[in-house]
Amino acid sequence: MNDELSGAIEEAAAIVKNARHVVALVGAGLSAESGVPTFRGPEGLWTKHGEPDLRDYDRFVEDPKRWWEMRISRQSRFGEFVEALDRAQPNAGHLALREMEELGYLKHIITQNIDNLHQLAGSAAITEIHGNRTKLRCVACAARWPLDEFPIEELPPQCPLCGGVVKGDTVMFGEPIPRDALDECSNQTWQCDCMLLIGTSAVVYPAAGFPIDVKGMGGHLIEVNPNETPLTRHADVILRSLAGEALPKLVQRLREMAAEGERHA
Ligand code: NAD
Ligand code: ZN
Repeated sequence: MNDELSGAIEEAAAIVKNARHVVALVGAGLSAESGVPTFRGPEGLWTKHGEPDLRDYDRFVEDPKRWWEMRISRQSRFGEFVEALDRAQPNAGHLALREMEELGYLKHIITQNIDNLHQLAGSAAITEIHGNRTKLRCVACAARWPLDEFPIEELPPQCPLCGGVVKGDTVMFGEPIPRDALDECSNQTWQCDCMLLIGTSAVVYPAAGFPIDVKGMGGHLIEVNPNETPLTRHADVILRSLAGEALPKLVQRLREMAAEGERHA
C-alpha cells in the first residue's frame, strides 16, 4: 500500500470508529470490479454508445403493453449491460460493506445501483433509490415482488392489491423516485454523521445532495474513488483507489483498532 493510501485509511478508520451513524452512498463504481460497466467515465456505456433516451418513462406510461413486449423480447441497445448484470457476483468491496455492517460500524447503504449485489453479498440495511432489477413494482401503490414470485398472465400485469399497472422496479429516465425510498434516504441523511461516498460520480440528484446535507450538519465525508468527482472538494478524507481494494483495507484497520482497544481495556 502506498503511504498516501495507508495514511488516508488510518484517518478514515478513526472517523468511522468515532462516528455514531455511518451511511454508505454507493454508485456504479462499486460494481465495476464485478464486471458491470459504469455509465460515465472513459469505459462508461454512455461514453461509448451515447446518452440514452430521457423519455423512457413517458413511453412506458403511454403504452405499458408495448414496453412489456420489448422487455420480454429483450430488445435493448444495452444488451451488453444486461448480460454483464446477469453474470455479476459481489466483489471484495460489497463483501467489505457487509462486514462493516456486521461489525456494527455501518448502519445503512443508500445505493444507486440496481444490480442486487448488496443483497447477494449479505448486507441487510439497504435503500435502493433507483430500484432493483430482480423485482417488479406497482406504479400506483409501490408494492414490490421478486420477479419469480409474480406470475405474468396478461400484459401489462396488474397489481393484485390495487389494480395498478406493474413495471420493473428499476427507476426509468423521467420516472419519479419512489416515495418510500426517498423518505428513507432523508431519514438516514438526518441521522448520518459520516458518509462514505463509494464509486459515485455524484452528479445524479437527489443522491448528489445527501453528502452536502451531511456536511452542512457538521458530519464527515470519506470518498472512495480512483477519480476526482464534484464531491472531492467537500471530502474530509479521500481514498484514491478502487473500492475493492480500499474497503477491505478499511475494514481490516477497523478490526485491528477494535483488537487494540480490547487489549488496552
Ligand atoms: P457513474 O457511472 O456516473 O460513475 C461511476 C463512478 O465510479 C465514477 O466516479 C468512477 O470514477 C467511479 N469508479 C469506477 N471504477 C471504480 C472502482 N473500481 N471503485 C470505485 N469507484 C470507481 O455512476 P453513478 O454515480 O452511480 O450514476 C450512474 C447511475 O446509473 C446510477 O444512478 C445507477 O442507477 C445507474 N447504474 C447502475 C449500475 C449498477 O447497478 N451496477 C451500473 C451503471 C449505472
Ligand atoms: Zn398496487
